[in-house]
Amino acid sequence: MVKCKLCNAKDADKKGSHIVPHFLLKRIENIEGKTGRDYELGFTIEKLNAKSYFGRSVQPEKLEETYGEITDADIAKNKHPLIVDNIFCSECESRLATIESKYAETTKTTNTKDYESGVSSIIGLLFWASVIWRMSINGKSGVKLTEEQNEKLRQTLDCFLPDKIEEIDKKGINENGLVKSLSYKILRSCDCKDDDAKWLFFHPEFNNPLCLLIDEYVVCFSFDDNFKDIDSKDCLGINEMIKQAPINKIGSDSNEIVKPFDNVTYKKMASSLLKIIQEVYLGGLDEFFDMVHVASGGKGKTMPSELKTEIMAELTSEEKKTGRKFTQEEIKKSTMKVMKRYAPK
Ligand SMILES: [Zn+2]
Repeated sequence: MVKCKLCNAKDADKKGSHIVPHFLLKRIENIEGKTGRDYELGFTIEKLNAKSYFGRSVQPEKLEETYGEITDADIAKNKHPLIVDNIFCSECESRLATIESKYAETTKTTNTKDYESGVSSIIGLLFWASVIWRMSINGKSGVKLTEEQNEKLRQTLDCFLPDKIEEIDKKGINENGLVKSLSYKILRSCDCKDDDAKWLFFHPEFNNPLCLLIDEYVVCFSFDDNFKDIDSKDCLGINEMIKQAPINKIGSDSNEIVKPFDNVTYKKMASSLLKIIQEVYLGGLDEFFDMVHVASGGKGKTMPSELKTEIMAELTSEEKKTGRKFTQEEIKKSTMKVMKRYAPK
């Protein structure tokens, strides 16, 4: 059996490991227990891989049959991209669960001013490092750390994730050279509504710090105490707020401090995010449309641009719920709907 990716020692026997902790994921996906491709792209932003959708010989009627409606059977056999088997051993899975359940308690505390979340910076840092590292090694959420960064986080987590929360080695971690340069800022929209679209988005242009939007949190994580990208690149329109947020760092017995922000700002941020997603997708979509065009027996190798524009208009129409606009399923439905208008009767 393959070895556990965290300890590199024991067999990776654990099935159903969550890459993103359940207490965050369930809010992002809002339908608990459902898995499948319907959820795959809406919240993990990657370029579309058109090749996986349609074989070149597939005819239009067949396309609808295959992709028009998603059935329970489809859902049952599709694997959730953020729940994985045989990555961790049972012991490491349990260590990850320990830090998660401790951190999950902080969601109960809210405030309108900067506030202490109720855990130490050590616990906060281990928790967020574990989320970012898991997303990076899983590779399906746009998080791509360098090998060196992955290994640094792995060693930190393997050394310091305790079996039980009271066994945390505060002295060891405070004095550890590996961990000393890690720091993070955390912002949270405390008054987010249940029906506000939630996202899992790793900003592709940020390295110093890494910027992750997850559920109602914005996490800025730095490997070398360097937040300089915030000064030079737009981060969903909330740069000033990020600058003002306090840095959480290991090295003393400090408590984690969260900067809260209001729902109006959250909504503005989400609309900036949609624009980015649209840009990221446009390249992939173009390729996808051409492939559908060829597969359906269209002339030449590219779909006429008028048709592409019409599909995009359909896809971004106001009727569709914001959070669902860019799921694979919606893209397929909009494409089919527009193409059917032009299909020979
Ligand atoms: Zn392990």
